[in-house]
Amino acid sequence: MENLTQLIDTFGRVHNNLRISVTDRCNIRCFYCMPSEDVQFVHRSKIMSFEEIVRFIRLVVPLGVDKIRLTGGEPLVRKNIPELVKMIADIPGIKDIGITTNGILLPQQAQQLYDAGLRRINISLDALNAAKFKQITRRDDYDKVLAGIQSAHDAGFDPVKINAVSIRNLTEEEIVPFGKLARETGAEIRFIEFMPLDADNQWEREKVLFAHEIQEILSQGIMPLVPQEQPDKSAPASNFIFEDGVGRIGFISSISAPFCMSCNRFRLTADGKLRNCLFSLEETDIRGLFHANAPDAEIIAAVHSSITAKKEGHEINTARFIQPDRPMYSIGG
Ligand code: SAM
Ligand code: SF4
Repeated sequence: MENLTQLIDTFGRVHNNLRISVTDRCNIRCFYCMPSEDVQFVHRSKIMSFEEIVRFIRLVVPLGVDKIRLTGGEPLVRKNIPELVKMIADIPGIKDIGITTNGILLPQQAQQLYDAGLRRINISLDALNAAKFKQITRRDDYDKVLAGIQSAHDAGFDPVKINAVSIRNLTEEEIVPFGKLARETGAEIRFIEFMPLDADNQWEREKVLFAHEIQEILSQGIMPLVPQEQPDKSAPASNFIFEDGVGRIGFISSISAPFCMSCNRFRLTADGKLRNCLFSLEETDIRGLFHANAPDAEIIAAVHSSITAKKEGHEINTARFIQPDRPMYSIGG
């Protein structure tokens, strides 16, 4: 008998939001996510097929999952992602599909993605100058990302959200230009605190540029920000607007103000491992269960067990914290 109750953990958090990594491959090499060379990618034969992804979503929709975000690696380097979006949009019960992308391949795909039913798009861009972009991503594709943002606007995505990872002694000078971009274009800029998920184990607390510091830089350089109502209490970003009502800014304060207690997210990696937290040290092998012809009830029971085992929080600010073996590109951010 299948247990079709909601995915509620021991802290009462209801999990309706599944992030699916469709590939661990990427066309750039952000230093806070990937190693510069010799990246160990999962062999293509071990990646979840579209059919397996859809089967998994169909199993968890009756457990209350209605929100899906595709991520990676870079999701758009995998072929036919608009087709996957369409397959997911056709699943009864799915209310919301999003993607997080570095934007480089959007000029070729933005319209197809929109037409397939995608409505939420987050494009990652940490710097508004080509030299700093290259320093961070180890690639020369700044102009392609700008073209990608434009093509998302042109395809009808509104708002386009821009994710900018903030790093001390590196991205301070980007903050005011990003604030101005938010005011001039209507894009929502979300500053993300650097998290210990890099491949080279270079993360240090001293490298985190905290949300309150960014807010101060924006206040001094443009004008003060005022908090906005949070329509979705489990969304990771706290939302602000400049006091004249023009320019939306979000802060994802994973380190300085962890939002674990309102987390509603769990993740499926490209190789089919279920993770109840970005920082989880344990995984559930969904693809392995599929390939062992496990019945639906067994897979659903495994999902429930994973959620039940979710810890209270990520513990980055404690001595107990252990960085997971998988860096961000291999989990799916
Ligand atoms: N390749 C896509 C992209 O970059 O948007 C999707 C995958 S990426 C892993 C998802 C998000 O995680 C991006 O916004 C990226 O900037 C962010 N990210 C990666 N490593 C991070 C880290 N160590 N700390 C904070 N954010 C990180
Ligand atoms: Fe690629 Fe995204 Fe990681 Fe940058 S953050 S290396 S774009 S997966």
